[in-house]
Amino acid sequence: MKNKNSESQIKTLIEESSSCVIIPHKNPDGDALGSCLALNHFLLKKGLNSIVISPNDYPSFLKWMPGETKILNFEKESTKAVQKIENADLIFTLDFNDLSRSGIMCDNIKVANGKIIMIDHHEKPKEYADLKLSDPEIGSTCEMIYNLINYIDSGIINSDIASCLYTGIMTDTGSFRFPSTTSGTHHVIAKLIEKGANNSEIHQKIYDTFSFNRLKLLGVALKNIQKLDSLPYIIITLNQTELDECSFKKGDTEGFVNYGLSIKGIELSVILIESKEDGIIKMSFRSKGDFSVNIFAEKYFCGGGHHNAAGGVSKEPMYETKNRLINLLKSFH
Ligand code: 5GP
Ligand code: MN
Repeated sequence: MKNKNSESQIKTLIEESSSCVIIPHKNPDGDALGSCLALNHFLLKKGLNSIVISPNDYPSFLKWMPGETKILNFEKESTKAVQKIENADLIFTLDFNDLSRSGIMCDNIKVANGKIIMIDHHEKPKEYADLKLSDPEIGSTCEMIYNLINYIDSGIINSDIASCLYTGIMTDTGSFRFPSTTSGTHHVIAKLIEKGANNSEIHQKIYDTFSFNRLKLLGVALKNIQKLDSLPYIIITLNQTELDECSFKKGDTEGFVNYGLSIKGIELSVILIESKEDGIIKMSFRSKGDFSVNIFAEKYFCGGGHHNAAGGVSKEPMYETKNRLINLLKSFH
């Protein structure tokens, strides 16, 4: 087992420490929050003083997860959060491998005295951590956290931990359909259900919570869908006016990009979402097969992620961004 050495070092560090903070990436998703919350439950049960600090807010469909109400939002409670980071023996960074993904917390983490432990499944980790548990072959950080907790003290896994981990594995594997889903993933899922994760209820809490406005926004996105001439590529756009008209809230566009891939024969789907406030276009890429969207996003749109799912940004306006993207895709093919 290639990660056993790191797992054993993390076990020792946990035994030697008394306080820690756990940090997901900016705009945390189900896997980032699920892994942080599960590890937090575990460390609290191990007697550590532990807390999850999120760089910013997260979608309301995640605001039921066990322990979620105790998360510190760095944007809203920065003084308390900075203190916690300064005083922590251990700083866990989960579901990202480039410190800039922690957003405005980045500088505070850099100058802190605690040991930084990265636990992540993205490719090409950067060298910022004192200890790294990294495996791009695993479909979610939650599956890695399950393996870690199972290795250190499997008896501690209760229904809260199981629910958090189930959520992240489910969301990051596209409900167990992406190629990263293995028999190992299903073994872990079986264990989590045995430990009390209510699978059916969790699916409903994550996927059946659309607001009326969110469904209207999906309608707008689908109306804007464009297929590139004679190429198996889809582009979807949402500008600020369209978002405003549907009272856009964080998380409302989650999953929209996948609709492009539901068309037979399509190999790549991209959604461009305008943010006037940040002066950027946020981009999400999804692919099937050989198209490495992480490489494409990193090379052209300051982004990254996984082979079949990545994100990036553009500082140019929507029209220019879309044109640049189309030209790049035409020459890339
Ligand atoms: P999403 O499109 O859902 O925002 O992100 C898809 C995947 O790409 C996730 O694994 C996420 O962590 C990663 N990702 C999204 N945006 C960025 C970005 O701006 N930079 C990097 N390096 N990764 C990103
Ligand atoms: Mn993940």
